[in-house]
Amino acid sequence: MTSEIFVLGAGIVGVSVALHLQERGRSVVLLDRNAPGEGASFGNAGLIERASVIPYAIPRDWRALLGHASNRNAAVRYDPAFLPRIAPWLLGYWRASHPDRLKKIASELLPLIEACLGEHERLVDAAGLSHLLRRDGWIEVVRSAATLEEAGRRSADMQATYGLASDVLDRQALTRLEPALRSAAIGGIHWRDPFTVSDPGALTKGYAALFEARGGTILREGVNHIAPEGAGWRIATENRSHSSAEVVVALGAYSNTLLSPLGYRIPLVAKRGHHMHFRPEGEATLRHSVLDEEIGYVLSPMTAGIRLTTGIELAAPDAPANRIQLDRAERRAREIFQLGMPVEDKPWLGLRPATPDMKPVIGPANRHPGLWLAFGHAHHGLTLGPATGRLLAELMTGETPFADPSPFDIGRFL
Ligand SMILES: Cc1cc2nc3c(=O)[nH]c(=O)nc-3n(C[C@H](O)[C@H](O)[C@H](O)COP(=O)(O)OP(=O)(O)OC[C@H]3O[C@@H](n4cnc5c(N)ncnc54)[C@H](O)[C@@H]3O)c2cc1C
Repeated sequence: MTSEIFVLGAGIVGVSVALHLQERGRSVVLLDRNAPGEGASFGNAGLIERASVIPYAIPRDWRALLGHASNRNAAVRYDPAFLPRIAPWLLGYWRASHPDRLKKIASELLPLIEACLGEHERLVDAAGLSHLLRRDGWIEVVRSAATLEEAGRRSADMQATYGLASDVLDRQALTRLEPALRSAAIGGIHWRDPFTVSDPGALTKGYAALFEARGGTILREGVNHIAPEGAGWRIATENRSHSSAEVVVALGAYSNTLLSPLGYRIPLVAKRGHHMHFRPEGEATLRHSVLDEEIGYVLSPMTAGIRLTTGIELAAPDAPANRIQLDRAERRAREIFQLGMPVEDKPWLGLRPATPDMKPVIGPANRHPGLWLAFGHAHHGLTLGPATGRLLAELMTGETPFADPSPFDIGRFL
């Protein structure tokens, strides 16, 4: 098959890139080895995180660090045998987490974060998916008065600096919003700007359906390699090959599999994360997604049940899914909300594609004309997919980009 542009990877990022290119009159083929939205985009916590203006850095506070180093908490788990394999990435991540650098990184990401709600809203409306979207924020619960005080200071600071809307909730106010939350949650912060999604996989599939309804082609094939051919590209899949003038690599955590053979050494590590759904017990319902920051998990009311998502696991990407963090999180989550029986008997595993500087890679691959990159969105791929799609499409079509693309250029790693 021949097309002007092949977008490789039909996660939220690839689908969004394809839609934005199509809107600009390009003929696009979207290609994935699975159906759209079955990778990391399927099972995330569903937060369109307008309030996450500071990316998830390595904590500099020694108590938090010791907590993670103990390898016994729900927020972060690591396989000791795997860490040496990613030592340079960890060192880069540590350096980028320095408060001064973090501030700069946050300011570079801000235009994308600011665009996230509007870009999703436009696609949700066009695709008829508003039933999947809730526009009433999420709640950060706290377990002690001291933490509530600290969270209150932080939210006031975020309001003053970034204009983020939030309410500090004492136990009474929390109960008004979420009557089923148990008394271990003594209060919280209601972050009011973000949207949440009741089925992130269905959202990505719905966006892909919009792309098809507008005349786009989706192929279900695994790509083995890509290579320059004449003025364009050859894309070799499992049993045939395609030609195109331009290629976009949007393979999430797998992006290096096609880029390494072309000589790109990109520090991309999969931060693994798991989920399971639970039935609510009795009459208990959850109206908002709830983050228990002190323990490190999210409970989200989803179509399939109450989704419990875990924090970060640093282990081989192809190691089997496990219940270690889920079990830790589930025990503590039951103190906050009455979870019933699990819906599935196996956990879901997803790979967050993470760079050490917490920024995605968006833009041209500087050593190969016609090769474009869109991956590395780590904890915020659902949030940033459509904004990334817009930025990359603007760059590819020579429009003035709505955000400065230079912080996302691959050149920073080469
Ligand atoms: C537990 C968890 C919770 C999260 N919570 C949130 C959240 O609340 N909010 C948020 O914004 N983000 C969240 N994220 C992050 C978010 O899910 C990811 O950043 C995002 O899904 C990445 O999208 P993507 O399109 O880059 O990758 P993916 O969705 O992984 O898509 C990549 C696609 O490439 C395809 N592919 C790979 N290799 C090949 C090949 N060789 N040939 C063909 N196809 C191939 C895969 O099949 C896949 O469909 C979470 C992630 C996890 C794991």
